[in-house]
Amino acid sequence: MTTNENAPGDETGGVGDEQHGGGYVEARIRRHPVVRVEVFAPFWPADPWWYTYGCPPCQGQHLERTDRRAGIPGGHRAPCGNLVYRVIGDTVYGVEVTP
Ligand SMILES: [Zn+2]
Repeated sequence: MTTNENAPGDETGGVGDEQHGGGYVEARIRRHPVVRVEVFAPFWPADPWWYTYGCPPCQGQHLERTDRRAGIPGGHRAPCGNLVYRVIGDTVYGVEVTP
């Protein structure tokens, strides 16, 4: 893994091989600060994925949800209105769900 772990808020010049799941994330979005998100797996298959991250522009912590974990990486507008570029850090799994 070559994704760097620079402190948020600084220029992260070395990010070159991120991958994204969205189909319309343009390269220009990569200029936004990279945030490492912590992902929480759903308790049940129908539940959403939750994820949280520290937001460099507003210095806050955001909690958001999504239906697809694969849709997390990439450019994104945070609830505070700033644009960030998300990469998945840790994934936390809770209760094992047997289908
Ligand atoms: Zn923010």
